[in-house]
Amino acid sequence: MMEEELVRLQEEAFDSLSAIKHASEFEPFRVKYLGRKGLITGAMRMLGQVAPEDRPRLGQLANTIKKEVEEKFESRKAQLAVTPISAPQAQQIDLSLPGRSIPFGKLHPVTQTMEEVCSIFEGLGFTVAEGPDVETDFYNFEALNLPQHHPARDMHDTFYIDDGVLLRTHTSPMQIRVMEKENPPLRVIAPGKVYRCDSDITHTPMFQQVEGFLVDRKVSFADLKGVLSVFVAKMFDEQTAIRFRPSFFPFTEPSAEVDIACVICGGDGCRVCKQTGWLEILGAGLIDPEVFKMVNYDPEEYSGFAFGLGIERIAMLKYGINDIRLFYENDLRFLAQF
Ligand SMILES: [Zn+2]
Repeated sequence: MMEEELVRLQEEAFDSLSAIKHASEFEPFRVKYLGRKGLITGAMRMLGQVAPEDRPRLGQLANTIKKEVEEKFESRKAQLAVTPISAPQAQQIDLSLPGRSIPFGKLHPVTQTMEEVCSIFEGLGFTVAEGPDVETDFYNFEALNLPQHHPARDMHDTFYIDDGVLLRTHTSPMQIRVMEKENPPLRVIAPGKVYRCDSDITHTPMFQQVEGFLVDRKVSFADLKGVLSVFVAKMFDEQTAIRFRPSFFPFTEPSAEVDIACVICGGDGCRVCKQTGWLEILGAGLIDPEVFKMVNYDPEEYSGFAFGLGIERIAMLKYGINDIRLFYENDLRFLAQF
């Protein structure tokens, strides 16, 4: 009986606290429930009349209820305690000031460059293919004419995960993965992250690459030069000079490194181009017949070219950045400039 009475009293007190809308209502509430002659205090006084065996349990309940009502009373007071702005303060607030602007996020310069490179090649009819960052030795090396113990493997500074499993050192494995599944003619670019155990002002352990390749009948080096010339003209400037230097890659034959006229000095020679007037931007070549044999293409019937370029390198040249590590330090003062 007494127990029900206490619970009902608590519910009633909570309801009227919630209903309070103005600070002036707190004092009457306090008097009614928590004051010396209040309802809760009165109920506690009644405890003397209950059976002695019920007294400890009911006493504890009454105490808990009193404490909870007091706590809710205080927190409701704090909720409603809004300090009104005084007249002198109000005069200091200039309502005619414009609002504070919210800073907008932007795409990372590497992402912007990646999107630009991909859209140029897509405009030339290339489609995008993506593959796994974790590759097998077969796709990353062996199928690209880099058998076990080939000396050119040393150039790659590979992160090995397990025997025969590694982080891809280039996006070239996508050549094999696409050619295994599809037949020529093919025009494909493969953008993505690649990994090499290397770090200084021009190398980061992870960087982004775009691999491109084209396979068809009668593809020649002239086609490669044509495609890359269009790319350089669109990425940099119509007037940017381009040159091909003989080079070596195990998966292309013949191979070339491609330079553009230095974007800083225009070819006169400066510190960035080491006084040569030229900057290397990518590696390329005609796909080696050995690679075609790995995917069962007939090298007598088909030929093709492939190229690979580093996105950070392109972004550095385009925006005049001299340390590749700046891209990955997440310094907003740097990132906000693009
Ligand atoms: Zn230069």
